[in-house]
Amino acid sequence: MKIAIYSTKYYEREYLDLYNKAAKHQLTYFEIPLNTETVATVKDFDAVCIQLTDKLDTNVIHQLAKAGVKYIALRSAGYDNVDVETAAKHKMKVLRIPAYSPEAIAEHAVALILTLNRKTHKAYNRVRENNFLLQNLMGFNLFGKTIGVVGTGKIGTAFCNIMLGFGCKVIATDLMESKELKDKGVQYVSFDTLLGQSDIISVHCPLNSKTKYLFNSAAFSKVKKGVMLINTSRGAILNTVDVIQALKKAQLGYLGIDVYEGEEQLFFKDLSNVVVLDDQIERLMSFNNVLITPHQAFFTKEALHAIARITIENFNSFEDSEVTKNQVAFTLPKSL
Ligand code: NAD
Repeated sequence: MKIAIYSTKYYEREYLDLYNKAAKHQLTYFEIPLNTETVATVKDFDAVCIQLTDKLDTNVIHQLAKAGVKYIALRSAGYDNVDVETAAKHKMKVLRIPAYSPEAIAEHAVALILTLNRKTHKAYNRVRENNFLLQNLMGFNLFGKTIGVVGTGKIGTAFCNIMLGFGCKVIATDLMESKELKDKGVQYVSFDTLLGQSDIISVHCPLNSKTKYLFNSAAFSKVKKGVMLINTSRGAILNTVDVIQALKKAQLGYLGIDVYEGEEQLFFKDLSNVVVLDDQIERLMSFNNVLITPHQAFFTKEALHAIARITIENFNSFEDSEVTKNQVAFTLPKSL
């Protein structure tokens, strides 16, 4: 099968080629994203394989259908960048990667906590300049602290397990409670109770209309003063303007984020030689208790192996007649 792979990053190719050795699909790599401006590059392909940075809106899907594309494979779990309804109208099969390595993201959330708390990033720089003072490096024990987990799905569960191992009290909020976690001692509470009791809050729910700006000024007015907030989920779950205010008032004592509302314009790019016009991220970076990483939580060898392996498995299942577990199901109304 001929497949056009868009938004290819340098680190992805070797893993995709490795898993494609046996499958022998004809893969063509494009570094550009697939969107309205670039859709004309899709010529003579059975399928397109995309990332979250590609935008397959109604127009792009129509163009793809005209070009003879029958399948769409996402190299991500989320698929909010694909108009699945229009894809279904064109009888296009859409496949995704529901889970690749929840531990990779959970472990990165813990890395943010430990770095912010024990200030190893500051110690590293300081010691390299022969400054061996302990001033301002004091942290706190995680043992015995209360950790609030928002969303106990695959990543949230992996995160809870790690924090239980540190000897923390873990409380959580989710639309569905996990028996496995409850049996291990995780207590489900309301969102407001979680805000009021947690020393550290880690966000692991998806971004949707209910969770957009879940962390706003109202939420920050209910937290323990000086709480640590970690977000490895999606940027817009936090209202950045309110976050900045909460940091200024010291309601938020620490902030660790791997995702940012305006990250599309910034992340995965080297902007070290240009003027960054996003004032909010510049303000965030000016706080000494804020740690930002560039959407790297997924970036482990194990996760890249899993993403490539499942992507090729998805290519192999394109022509299966039954609905596969990775297929994005969309049922068109009967009238259509
Ligand atoms: P998942 O679907 O397994 O779990 C999400 C959980 O959130 C579910 O249990 C769901 O019931 C719960 N939830 C939904 N709405 C909620 C709400 N309003 N309040 C509390 N809980 C709510 O997803 P996952 O695989 O654990 O991934 C979680 C998120 O992590 C993804 O949506 C994605 O945004 C993010 N993610 C980030 C990276 C990264 O590299 N930074 C990589 C992968 C995923």
